[in-house]
Amino acid sequence: MYNNLMDNDAQAKLKRAAWAEIDLSAVAHNFRALRALAPESRFICCVKADAYGHGAVPVARTLLSAGAEALGVATLEEAAQLRGSGISAPVALLSAAPRANAADILSLGVTPVVTTWEDARLLSEAVQSAAQSAPAEIFLALETGMGRLGFLREEAALRDIERVAALPGITIGAFFSHFATAEEEDQGFALAQIERFDAFCAALAARGVTAPQRTMANSAAILNFPQAHYELVRPGLALYGLYPAERLRAKVELRPAMRIQAAISYLRRVPKGFTVSYGKRFVTERESLIGTLPAGYADGLPRALTGSARALVRGHSVPVVGAICMDQCMVDVTDVPDVREYDIATLVGEQGGERIALEEIARGSGTINYEAACRFGQRLPKVYV
Ligand SMILES: *Cc1c(COP(=O)(O)O)cnc(C)c1O
Repeated sequence: MYNNLMDNDAQAKLKRAAWAEIDLSAVAHNFRALRALAPESRFICCVKADAYGHGAVPVARTLLSAGAEALGVATLEEAAQLRGSGISAPVALLSAAPRANAADILSLGVTPVVTTWEDARLLSEAVQSAAQSAPAEIFLALETGMGRLGFLREEAALRDIERVAALPGITIGAFFSHFATAEEEDQGFALAQIERFDAFCAALAARGVTAPQRTMANSAAILNFPQAHYELVRPGLALYGLYPAERLRAKVELRPAMRIQAAISYLRRVPKGFTVSYGKRFVTERESLIGTLPAGYADGLPRALTGSARALVRGHSVPVVGAICMDQCMVDVTDVPDVREYDIATLVGEQGGERIALEEIARGSGTINYEAACRFGQRLPKVYV
């Protein structure tokens, strides 16, 4: 959109010379690529955490028009944001909501993941006192190895599930579980989880508790375990063109949807022996051209990358020098021919055939691409292309 130089229009519009560029056609492409792998399943597309930093509402609209059947969020606030923007598609609430919020679950029309008898009982009461005619749909969480939410497969819990199934005003839309290791090379534990899930569902059926759908697969399981697609899959990360593990790149061609851009808003020639940033950890060893980028760790560029971060300027890889500040960082562009103020530096993504992967940022700061994407989404303005 801004080519190499950030122009005046873009500056005036964004009010910042740094932004996250989100490619919605990549999101649609990734959705279609996943759908081709799980053609029999309905899709709950996870747009929690502001669509992993990509912007929940534009991403949700893109996914729904590409054919997604439902959306997944983590909080009632996220559900309210979707509803407030006019999205009426089914929304699943994938984390346990506070018990006191049964009325909000109903008014927002979301499908909660239920993991205790008490939650189910309060929801049933709320349905009755709202004099709602249609029953509220829930996903019944079954513990199979994630160790996070879900009824255990033991006698007391099974009795609780029978009572949940008998509650007025509630219907179990799906048996639900979650993988702990679906991206790992050693598939043993994930396969055991699938077996446990199947056995759990069978044990419930034997007691007369049934559900029309089952759901277990996250992105990694969509790629690795076709036998766990069931009726409903729940991709998140892969929709954004990111892989749960490097090894899984061979399974499907995904396109990263996020590019982090910042214009060199200040550029100057400095002498040898010039110190840069807090702690003067970088000292020029020659006369240098140092550019300042208005993006820092509060925008998602981890301070832990001090000394190892880089940027792409005019297609060249240049080092980020000195400590990464909260709102700014500096690049050494001495070796970039014709570099100018308002040249656009790419901190994540492709420029002129070079690429800085989000994984490079994640690895260098001791985290995973999931977290790195969320952080870049927090403060930068988003530009949709
Ligand atoms: C976030 C989440 C997903 C999506 O996981 P990815 O690894 O991003 O595909 C699926 N199910 C639940 C319950 C989740 O919380």
